[in-house]
Amino acid sequence: MKKAQIIIVGMGGQGVQTIAKILALAIVQNGCNVSYIPRFGVEQRGTPSVAFIKSDPDKINYPLFNVADWLLILHPGARAEAAGYIDKKTQIIFDSSLMAANQINGNLSNFFGLPAVKLANDNFSGRSANLIFLGKISKELGLPFEVVWQEMLKVLGKKFKSGAVKEEGRQALLAGYESSSEKGIFFQPTHQPSKGMINLKGGGKQLFLAPERCKGCGICIVKCPVGAIKFGRRAGAFATPLPEVDLDKCNVCGNCFLYCPDGAIKVEKKNKKYGDN
Ligand code: SF4
Ligand code: SF4
Repeated sequence: MKKAQIIIVGMGGQGVQTIAKILALAIVQNGCNVSYIPRFGVEQRGTPSVAFIKSDPDKINYPLFNVADWLLILHPGARAEAAGYIDKKTQIIFDSSLMAANQINGNLSNFFGLPAVKLANDNFSGRSANLIFLGKISKELGLPFEVVWQEMLKVLGKKFKSGAVKEEGRQALLAGYESSSEKGIFFQPTHQPSKGMINLKGGGKQLFLAPERCKGCGICIVKCPVGAIKFGRRAGAFATPLPEVDLDKCNVCGNCFLYCPDGAIKVEKKNKKYGDN
């Protein structure tokens, strides 16, 4: 593997640091030295998250760099974080399902679209888009698929609660690894996040969920006493997975509303309006 300087940018909650860590470990396993510097805000969810990775067959004397060979943009909200690190030679891979090419700063001759969120929503789950990016950059860097997969198992193994979830993660990684680079002009994002309040009824209750506020933190899932909430397949406005509620299981305890840091979710007895006492 040759020298490479890579920047990955996205929003907190998209798994930028997770794939950066796996990539760094895979580079080491492939016989290179590596440096990995994470950078994110005090509020991890919904704010830009950046990872700087440097690989070198020789000793790395200084981990920082001025210009990236590769830039991965997982979310348009974080693209400005990389503006000072690109030049005409930087290969830019961006999520063409979330943003148009003309939203990218800098020279546009070396950019490639990877509709990761759309691919994830259509085939896997909203949580897999980062793994598609990981597969893509791994292939571009010449890392063997199995090396990356084994490092992914070490980092994410405990999160694979079933064989099916594990296989889905592997397939998402493979989808990125085998994806072709789409070079061209991408004027329109193909993923439309749900807009407006989602209002579902069932079992004498109704759910209010605001996809433009939800950052996919999962706190509501942890705080639900009856296990009625889980992440669904769709991604919200931050390209993080949206929760789904099993209204038959829900006992309307109010915990999800109480603990959600963004006021994005509430379950009420049917026929109340959001905000009613
Ligand atoms: S109201 Fe309570 S039981 Fe219902 S989904 Fe929210 S946390 Fe779970
Ligand atoms: S609804 Fe709120 S608590 Fe649940 S995942 Fe979204 S932001 Fe987090």
